[in-house]
Amino acid sequence: MRFKPKPFTEPVGFRCLYCLDCCRGRHVYLTLKDVERIAKAGHDPQDFVTFSIEGDKIRFVLAIREWDLGCVFHDPETGKCRIHAVRPLICRIYPFMVSRKPLGVKSERPFHHKGETLWLYYDESCPGINAENPETTITPEEIAELGIEFEREFEKTDMDGFAELIERLEGEKDE
Ligand code: SF4
Ligand code: SF4
Repeated sequence: MRFKPKPFTEPVGFRCLYCLDCCRGRHVYLTLKDVERIAKAGHDPQDFVTFSIEGDKIRFVLAIREWDLGCVFHDPETGKCRIHAVRPLICRIYPFMVSRKPLGVKSERPFHHKGETLWLYYDESCPGINAENPETTITPEEIAELGIEFEREFEKTDMDGFAELIERLEGEKDE
């Protein structure tokens, strides 16, 4: 599914309708903290981490099923996420997006949060935004906070850190 950005400047009501769209055909980056949290919930990193080479960097990406390009944690019967409580930061941010520069979308404007200047958007294709009977209200502040956290953790995520994490997780298993 292609992200259709709309400026996110005011709180919006949200209720996920489990339309399955956002957990299929997406490239979900993982931070080391994501890998650790999911592994500690009982999932082997070998089963959910894949690698992507981007320039001189190795990125860690959530694995997908071959048959429908769905995320390995997506339950095709219910449309729900099987690791909802420990899902990656990117999945907590979606259907919103945090950018350091404007995307050139009509009516966008900068959002200032804790000394940072950001541009926030939501995905117009997600039917959960402004859905009837919303379950929750999402504010620009909380998305800005998650976006900054993702940026910080993503920056620290590299192969050395990944190898150390795997070693540590193996050590904890043997204890
Ligand atoms: S696209 Fe929106 S409504 Fe559909 S599953 Fe994703 S978050 Fe939920
Ligand atoms: S981890 Fe969960 S929310 Fe994220 S893409 Fe996979 S199924 Fe969807």
